[in-house]
Amino acid sequence: MRDRIERAAEWLKESEFAIALTGAGISVESGIPAFRGSQGLWDKYDPAEYATIEAFMSDPFKVWKMLKELYETVRRAEPNAAHRALAELEAMGKLRAVITQNVDSLHQRAGSRNVIEFHGSGETLTCLSCGGKFRIEDIDLENIPPLCHCGGILKPDVVFFGEPIPPEALKSAFELAERCDLLLVVGTSAQVYPAASIPRIARDSGARVVEINLEPTPLTHEVSHLFIEGKAGEILPEIAQLVKT
Ligand SMILES: [Zn+2]
Repeated sequence: MRDRIERAAEWLKESEFAIALTGAGISVESGIPAFRGSQGLWDKYDPAEYATIEAFMSDPFKVWKMLKELYETVRRAEPNAAHRALAELEAMGKLRAVITQNVDSLHQRAGSRNVIEFHGSGETLTCLSCGGKFRIEDIDLENIPPLCHCGGILKPDVVFFGEPIPPEALKSAFELAERCDLLLVVGTSAQVYPAASIPRIARDSGARVVEINLEPTPLTHEVSHLFIEGKAGEILPEIAQLVKT
């Protein structure tokens, strides 16, 4: 594995425009459960039942019970070594952007500046009646669902199943995928479209694709030029350290 880590670091050094695509796997080490193959929250709340826009619209109280627990989990979570390594690479000028499928803001809290939030953000909420915007820290989650001054129900600005990707994020992500010369895929099996097409766009545009995951994914043999198996929180800091020296 050492030689793979060294090769990834060499490629980053050679790269002029590297970006990262991250998914739930990078935040699992911070204690935020992934939908798939996880324990905890998603055992109690089946995402197929709780994370769809239809469920939110038909029973906001039920879905807000899940959201409240998710917010509490995210509030307790801290960025881990993988988030920090990506922020460090950006600060070194070796990483231009992070496209994330996560809504936990841990990249920003770790210090990443250019973060494309492909699935929106839990930091802000929108009133479904008047369109009013709110920040989560101003919301009292004792009474759910939280309501706007107008009486409308507040919905987090995260993409629920059945909702479109925010157009600006989609446009930025695809532009970055076409432009990059190296893509780090971290903690995502990249099976859900349209995020899943980012590694393929990058590869078809001539980028090297480096994948860091706990186990092989459908990308590993078809798209990735280099697969590093293991914990992102251990591998990324090693790569960042080698790039620095
Ligand atoms: Zn309102």
